[in-house]
Amino acid sequence: MSTEEPLLRVDNLAVRYGSAQALFDVSFELPPNSALAVLGSNGAGKSTLARALSGLVPSCGGSAEFAGRDLLTLSAPRIRRAGLVHLPEGRGVFPGLTVQENLRMALVVDRRDRGGALQRAFEIFPVLAMRRRQLAGTLSGGEQQMLSLARALMVEPRLVIADEMSLGLAPRLVDVVFDSLARARDAGVSVIMIEQFARRALAFADRCLILQRGQSTWFGPATDAGEELLHRYLGEAGAA
Ligand code: ATP
Repeated sequence: MSTEEPLLRVDNLAVRYGSAQALFDVSFELPPNSALAVLGSNGAGKSTLARALSGLVPSCGGSAEFAGRDLLTLSAPRIRRAGLVHLPEGRGVFPGLTVQENLRMALVVDRRDRGGALQRAFEIFPVLAMRRRQLAGTLSGGEQQMLSLARALMVEPRLVIADEMSLGLAPRLVDVVFDSLARARDAGVSVIMIEQFARRALAFADRCLILQRGQSTWFGPATDAGEELLHRYLGEAGAA
């Protein structure tokens, strides 16, 4: 493990929806420039973790520090401005706008150098540069996810939480999603990946967090998360 100050430090995080507790005492650390795979079966609390870290649901216990700031006291827009961007399940693009318009829209409230950010997005994703005048709704599913990620990168985040970006995509398009996330990492962005394809996620990530019924049952180097462990915690389907 690195001796660097962690980019994200989560301690005993707890979340409830009304009377039902969805996360119990979840703890892990993420160093800068790293990737974490969050695995777990349906309803384990993966999306809840993503929502709590991005300020979309309140926590009811524990702490979360991001780049030295107390995340749990910040509103969702402030968390985004602090450099943590959450890509929720489903494609967050405007289908009736072109690729370029979608990218420009990402900076409407941020007042950054749009020209520079756009150029950077096109350098990371040349496919989007080729399709800049195409309506986003006519892109393939994988390309739409790529655009959604490119929109997130326009604000130059330090950490992207990608929640099930490959959900419902054909295998070729899943490759596009993993390749896009690898490009984000190459650009220096840390990634928390919530993913149904456990083995692919582990090949991508440095670390792995396994959630079971809202509890963190295992956290360690992705290379140590072997077959036996995946079967024990995720069962046949989850270890796919
Ligand atoms: P999946 O892989 O199926 O998307 P998940 O691991 O992301 O599941 P969550 O969506 O975080 O799981 O849900 C964790 C638990 O919290 C589940 O039991 C779910 O039913 C419950 N839950 C999620 N959202 C709400 C909500 N808005 N209100 C009440 N309960 C909720």
